[in-house]
Amino acid sequence: MTELHVPDRPSWSCAGCGAPQWPCEHAKAELTATYDPVGLAMYGAERLAEAARDLPTATPEELFTRFVAWTRNP
Ligand SMILES: [Zn+2]
Repeated sequence: MTELHVPDRPSWSCAGCGAPQWPCEHAKAELTATYDPVGLAMYGAERLAEAARDLPTATPEELFTRFVAWTRNP
């Protein structure tokens, strides 16, 4: 049983805490502690690209806000 706050694909809920939308607040805190600002933004952009394939009904605006926008001011 994992408690890592990682995305549960293809739903992109949090596998660790069950939050409906990954990244949850825990994941954001862990990622912010792991990456420098540029790496954090790149990580978010990579997850955005994966999520865009898994979540075809999500709009680009929703995906950008969810995966990238928060990395600018975590
Ligand atoms: Zn979580």
